[in-house]
Amino acid sequence: MRTVLAIDVGGSQYRLALISKKGEITFHHRGKTQREQGAIWLIPRLIEEIEQIKSSGYNPLAIGVGFGGPVNYKAQQILASLHAPGWDQNNLSEILSAHFNLPVTIDNDGNVGALGEYHFGAGQGVKNMLYYTVSTGVGGGVILNGESWRGHHSQGAELGHLPVVFNGPICTCGYRGCVESICSGLSIARQALEAVENTQIPTSLRAILNKTGDLTAKDVFSCYYEGDKVAQQIIDYVKRVFVSGLIGAINLFDPEAIVIGGGVGLAPGFVDGLTEQVNEQIMIPGRRQIPCVRGTLGDNSVLFGAAKLAWNSLGME
Ligand SMILES: [Zn+2]
Repeated sequence: MRTVLAIDVGGSQYRLALISKKGEITFHHRGKTQREQGAIWLIPRLIEEIEQIKSSGYNPLAIGVGFGGPVNYKAQQILASLHAPGWDQNNLSEILSAHFNLPVTIDNDGNVGALGEYHFGAGQGVKNMLYYTVSTGVGGGVILNGESWRGHHSQGAELGHLPVVFNGPICTCGYRGCVESICSGLSIARQALEAVENTQIPTSLRAILNKTGDLTAKDVFSCYYEGDKVAQQIIDYVKRVFVSGLIGAINLFDPEAIVIGGGVGLAPGFVDGLTEQVNEQIMIPGRRQIPCVRGTLGDNSVLFGAAKLAWNSLGME
């Protein structure tokens, strides 16, 4: 079967998969990144893994990469990583292309995840779609008229960096009150730590903090499911802020559908009620019904989108 090689480079892990044009995965491998060593460790590792794949008899026709950080798509250059060193102005695409003599296409993982859900997942059948990946951070992707929209400098579609709370918490981008600064996994964990410090209300979060020495978004969600009042306040606030971001984005793009993925976005309860809240509050209520739905590709959306980039590079749309 003819396949392309899809690569997903995240902050803590990387993944490789061989994917057919129809979206069948014929090979998959996942590894942990050495975060402190960044690009210097990962690039030779990727080359070694691709060589192993080829020596096992696979011959991918092209490579597509979804990278966890800003990418200049036109120049095919990584601009930076917010997680690991060595990626500033990095030419991973050129390095892999020269080494394997294959077409290589790279884009930011928010855009790539959107492309994955659009072609193979929850976005099938729509033409205009917004995609959020809510995990450690909040990434975004915008599909307009069936194409990825990236903006003039390839740095648009950052739906997680729409400011929604004036003078809110400082964000990873340097601004304040962005969707990411309240709704990301790291931000949820920070709010939980602050809440435990400041509240008199009994909460299981305090017991978890005392036991493990830290709190994660996962802890907040597990307490939320058990009816913990403090966890419920946090998640309710996170969802209200997320709805503000959605309304801002809907007013800009007027999409047909919103697809939400990522570890936090796919957590049970996160997407529940969003469609109703958003559609009650957007301009001219009642005229539009924009569904806010869970992505259907789970944590494979970037791999599928990277495969689509690679197939596109072969002119096989
Ligand atoms: Zn921001």
